[in-house]
Amino acid sequence: MNIHEFQAKELIRQYQVATPDGRVATDAEDARQITKAYGGQSVVKAQIHAGGRGKGGGVKFATDPDKAAELFKQLLGMNLVTKQTGPEGRRVFTVFISNPVDIERELYLALLVDRATSRITIMASTEGGVDIEEVAEKTPEKITRVAIDPAVGMTAFQAREVAFALGLEGDAFKKSVVFLQNLYRLFVEKDCSMVEVNPLVITKTGDVTALDAKMGFDDNALFRHPDILAFRDLNEEAPEEIEASKFNLNFIKLDGTIGCMVNGAGLAMGTMDIIKYHGGSPANFLDVGGSATEDAVKNAFRIILQDKAVKGVMVNIFGGIMRCDIVAGGIVKAAKEIGITVPVVVRLEGTNVEEGKRILAESGLNLIVADGINDAAEKIVAATK
Ligand code: GDP
Ligand code: MN
Repeated sequence: MNIHEFQAKELIRQYQVATPDGRVATDAEDARQITKAYGGQSVVKAQIHAGGRGKGGGVKFATDPDKAAELFKQLLGMNLVTKQTGPEGRRVFTVFISNPVDIERELYLALLVDRATSRITIMASTEGGVDIEEVAEKTPEKITRVAIDPAVGMTAFQAREVAFALGLEGDAFKKSVVFLQNLYRLFVEKDCSMVEVNPLVITKTGDVTALDAKMGFDDNALFRHPDILAFRDLNEEAPEEIEASKFNLNFIKLDGTIGCMVNGAGLAMGTMDIIKYHGGSPANFLDVGGSATEDAVKNAFRIILQDKAVKGVMVNIFGGIMRCDIVAGGIVKAAKEIGITVPVVVRLEGTNVEEGKRILAESGLNLIVADGINDAAEKIVAATK
């Protein structure tokens, strides 16, 4: 799960990580009052779960309180398109007013879980404020990586190593070490998957402060962080994903044309690979999990069909704990209640497969039955071409 900048800043303040003052404005008048309180100027920032807002026109400088009110009205409700949102953009529902900072230098800092080493890793660069992907591509030597031993935690030595790499000295050096140590404590205690501070700013007065903050969390650990879960913003999630989570189903939106209903994440990966192999492209996948009921399967089908991009559905179920007759029953129920207007290929294998096939055959529905995963992928790609 990801959270907004203003929420991330709330959290990092709790951990004594420095960040400029800022508040969410409730309306244009509030934006004016906050700006007044900040001495007459402010940075007005659209809150969406995507970066690149500055270049996309979602971060604006207000030179006086009236201008802040005007910018608030301009940003609220706008469709913000950035490099990270895709061409369809994101609607802005929240506007954050930040106390402006005089920037001396813009640096880059991130903590993330590196899959290669299975360790929390610090990424730091003197090239902050800009596209880090571009830095990584063109001048990778400008990015410093420090992997942290989970048994030892971040040592003072490692924090200093990063501060050196960022070219800091004196007061800013000391402050950045404390900044980093507190940020690491937050990362571990809140089960983050990613924290990105871009830019990390050295101010004209020598302070170290997080001008921007992006944060992601491990979904599997959210049950022990009700405070983080409270930050969830449904406006930022695909409607089908929200609908699926209500039924304990796991729906992932992709950009192709074939809907996939599977059980288990591994089988989902295999299904997508084989669809690609045969020249198709998945529109989504919906994982019904290990123990879905007929009703859950029916809802899964309904959710897949809601996705306008779906031109056909591949059902790929390996019945272990999940029984094939239950899946078949759910499909038949869905077809009768919702009506299915696209080709559906079904591949069932495992527990009660004969019973499952019998239910499908006797349903009178126009389903394409496949023999094995390869045959299923071939058939759905052919049916949707
Ligand atoms: P992003 O574009 O979504 O990453 O949004 P940021 O919060 O990083 O803001 C984009 C850019 O706006 C920053 O890189 C800064 O250059 C600029 N900016 C944001 N806040 C301030 C501020 O308080 N003072 C100054 N001078 N520039 C700011
Ligand atoms: Mn940024």
